[in-house]
Amino acid sequence: MADTRPVFAVDIGGTKLAAGLVEPAGRVLTWTQVPTPSGLDAEQLWRTLDALITDVLDRARVTPTELAGCGCGCGGPMEWPSGVVSPLNIPAWRRFPLRTRLADRLGGITTRVHNDAICLVAAEHWRGAGRGRQNVLGMVVSTGVGGGLVLDGQLIRGASGNAGHIGHVVVDPETGPLCTCGGRGCAEAIARGPALVTWAQAEGWRPDQKDATAKDLAADGALGHPIGLAAMHRAGRALGIAIASATSLCDLEVVSVGGGLSQAGPLLFDPLEEALRAHARLAFTRQVRVVPAALGQSAGLVGAAALIFAADRYWHGD
Ligand SMILES: [Zn+2]
Repeated sequence: MADTRPVFAVDIGGTKLAAGLVEPAGRVLTWTQVPTPSGLDAEQLWRTLDALITDVLDRARVTPTELAGCGCGCGGPMEWPSGVVSPLNIPAWRRFPLRTRLADRLGGITTRVHNDAICLVAAEHWRGAGRGRQNVLGMVVSTGVGGGLVLDGQLIRGASGNAGHIGHVVVDPETGPLCTCGGRGCAEAIARGPALVTWAQAEGWRPDQKDATAKDLAADGALGHPIGLAAMHRAGRALGIAIASATSLCDLEVVSVGGGLSQAGPLLFDPLEEALRAHARLAFTRQVRVVPAALGQSAGLVGAAALIFAADRYWHGD
């Protein structure tokens, strides 16, 4: 008989900690989230997560023995598959043994931790916009540009677990901005939210507003502000070129784009599509479809659950 027990899913990012139960069809049952606290040490932050776990278990009235396992997505970098994490956006955790701690907390049930961008592509392929397709690139465009790759129906790991990291595909090596990776002109260096804000402010948009965000920029673009429009065009073009390159390398069917900036809709997707069509000229690359991610807020939890429920496709570790 099929296992109908839910998976305990955890999604850890720089802005929020979320936990919940996901059933085998991918539906999120009970879940809750809190803002990621800052200024804490490693153990204090763990206690915040521990309390969140207790809250979910209590509200659902389940014990760890009634779970099929625990899946967790966390910001990178991490040592994989050991799940020792050092998330860039969470300074409190440096070489924090997250996988071991979660397993201990949940009574030793099967526990798996993967990169949050990997969980997002797993979610989109398992239950979202890439469902039923064999070759899918999932992208997250927000404060960074991350991604993950499913080819022939399998999550691709790469030598160090970083395959599909499209943010550092180079799209403008001559005149593009410096990237946090040390290179120049990566897609992320142009299209990440903070880089768009920096560019727009240098062009004269809200020049003195320190807390201006890419969301503000997109909102102004939607109202017809020329710099807001130009910024979304700039991001869309960079992403479209990167996607064209990825498509010819990997023979993709679908690219799903999520993350905060994807909320800009046609302001971002129209120039993206235009650049993609200008650069993807071969018959096989012209087939690719770029779609907004379908799962929205719950994608992180659904993808974390997929590490357990669909391990044959998305988990190739111990
Ligand atoms: Zn880079």
